[in-house]
Amino acid sequence: MDADVVFVNGSVYTVDAARRWTRAVAVRGGRIVAVGTDDDVRSLIGARTEVHDLRDRMLLPGFQDAHVHPPSGGIEMLQCDMNEAYSLPEYERIAAAYAASHPDEEWILGGGWSMDAFPNGTPDRAPLDRVLPDRPAFLPNRDGHTAWVNSRALEMAGITAETPDPPDGRIERDAQGRPTGALHEGAMTLVRKLTPPTTQEQWEEGLLAAQRYLHSLGITAWQDAIVGGSYETYEAYRALAGRGDLTARVVGALWWDRLRGAEQIAELVDKRERGDVGRFRATSVKIMQDGVVETFTAAVIEPYLDAGGRPTERYGMSFVDPEALKPYVTELDALGFQVHFHALAERAVRECLDALEAARAANGPNDLRHHLAHIQIVHPDDVPRFRRLGAVANAQPLWAMNEGQMRNLTIPFVGSERAGWQYPFASLHRAGATLAMGSDWGVSSPNPMWEIHVAVNRTSFPGYVYADDDEAVEQPFLPDERLDLPTAIAAFTVGSAFVNHLEDVTGSIEPGKLADLVVLDRNPFEHPREEIHRTRPLLTMVEGVPVHVDPSFD
Ligand SMILES: [Zn+2]
Repeated sequence: MDADVVFVNGSVYTVDAARRWTRAVAVRGGRIVAVGTDDDVRSLIGARTEVHDLRDRMLLPGFQDAHVHPPSGGIEMLQCDMNEAYSLPEYERIAAAYAASHPDEEWILGGGWSMDAFPNGTPDRAPLDRVLPDRPAFLPNRDGHTAWVNSRALEMAGITAETPDPPDGRIERDAQGRPTGALHEGAMTLVRKLTPPTTQEQWEEGLLAAQRYLHSLGITAWQDAIVGGSYETYEAYRALAGRGDLTARVVGALWWDRLRGAEQIAELVDKRERGDVGRFRATSVKIMQDGVVETFTAAVIEPYLDAGGRPTERYGMSFVDPEALKPYVTELDALGFQVHFHALAERAVRECLDALEAARAANGPNDLRHHLAHIQIVHPDDVPRFRRLGAVANAQPLWAMNEGQMRNLTIPFVGSERAGWQYPFASLHRAGATLAMGSDWGVSSPNPMWEIHVAVNRTSFPGYVYADDDEAVEQPFLPDERLDLPTAIAAFTVGSAFVNHLEDVTGSIEPGKLADLVVLDRNPFEHPREEIHRTRPLLTMVEGVPVHVDPSFD
C-alpha cells in the first residue's frame, strides 16, 4: 500500500539506539511504516504520496515538554504581557499601553516580569502607581512565585502594615513594616482571590494560543505541570480534547492542595477517571514541595546566608510537612498515580526522595515514573538516589547559566559550595538517572532548541534575554555539568515521552510508532555547538497531520 507522506534525502536522527541515523521515513495512517535509505521507501511512493525532499535537513521525533503551563502561558500572551521585556521603564510602558488599550478591564492582569530587572529582585508599587493610579493590578513575575501589585490592589485586599504574613507566604515590607507591592508565594492569594476568575472560555482560548505556539517550536506532547488550584484548566482540556481540538498529547498533573491532606485523594481519583478524553489524560499529581531560591522560599538544609555571607535563620519552606508527605505519596503510588514534584533546593529534593523511598518500602517497585522537576540544588549524596528509586530527573536546562539573577540573587545567598551543586544534569546522567526535560513556560521560553543549547553549552546566546550579559555568554555555568547533544535531544524526546508513558508509541522514529515528527532547518550536529540555538523548526506533525508549517518549508 502507498504511503501518505514520505521524507527522503534527510538527516534523520531517530533517537533509536539500534539505528541512530538514517535517510528516509514513510508515514501511512498516522504511523511510521518504514525507516531506512531512500531506496527502502521508494516502493511505498504512489500517485497520492506526498514526497518531501529534505535536502539534508534534520528530521526528529517531535519534542515533548515534561513540565509546562500552556493555558496560563497562552492567556498571558493575550494579556499585559511583560515576558519579552527586561527593564522597569519597559514594564511601565507595557502596563500603561495595555491599560490604555483595555479601558473596560477592571483589573490589569498578566505579568511575566523578570526579577533581575529590580534591586534585590523585588519591584515596588510606586512606579506601577504612576501608570496605574486607579485600577488594581496583579502581575506575577515570570516564575509565578511573586506578584507585583499596585496600591489600589493592596487597598482593596486590606493589606496594611498590620496584616500578618500568611503561613505559606510573605508580604514584602519597608523598614516601617508597610507593604511595598511585592507578594511572595501564598501571600499572592490575598490579592489573587479578588481578581475576576478566569473563565473556561479564556482558559480554552489560552490553551489554543499556547498549542499553536508550542507546535511552532516543534513540540508535539507535554505534561501540564498544574491542572487545578489557581489553574482551573481541567475542564478546558476535557472540552478541547472532546472536540478533537487538542492536537498535542497531554498528561495533566492534578494539583495537590497543600492546605488539605489525604481527604482530597478521592477527588483526584474521580478527576483521573473523567479526565481520559481524546489526547488528554490526568494521571499525574503535582506536589509543590518548596518555593524558589531568590525569595528564600526554596527549602535548604543549611540556612541561607545574608548579604555579608553570614548564616541567617532562614531555611525556606516545606509546603507539605515532610512526615505527612510520606503517607500521601505512598497512597498516591498505591493508587497508580504518578507524582510530579516541584523540588527546587536540596532539602525539598531530599524530602521528595524520602517520600518515594517510603512508597517503595510500602508498595514495592512499579512503573509509575515519579519525577522531580527543577532540581536546582541537589545534595551530592542524593544524586545516586534518583536511579535507585526510579525517580526521573525533570530538568529545566534554560536556567543553568551564569546570568545576573544567578550571580546576584542566588550564589551569594547559598554560598559557594552549594552553588556548585546546581543543575547537576551530567552528574545525574552519569549516575544512571533517566533525564526528561521541560521549559516551565510561562516561567521561561519553551523553545526546545534554546533549552538544548544551554544544556550543551551552559551559556547564554544572541537573541536571548541575557545576550548582553557578557558573563552569561562567555563563562559556562559549572561546565562539568554540560551534556552532549545526543543526551540533551534524548531527554527532550524519548526521556519526556517516558515520563508521559508515551515512549512505546512516540519519542523515537521507528516503524510502528506514531508519526509525531519535526523537521528542523539544519542538522545541528554539523554546526558548532555554539550555534545550536539558531536551529528552527520548519514542519511539525502529529500522527502524520501537519500542525505547524513554516512558510519556508517545501
Ligand atoms: Zn512549573
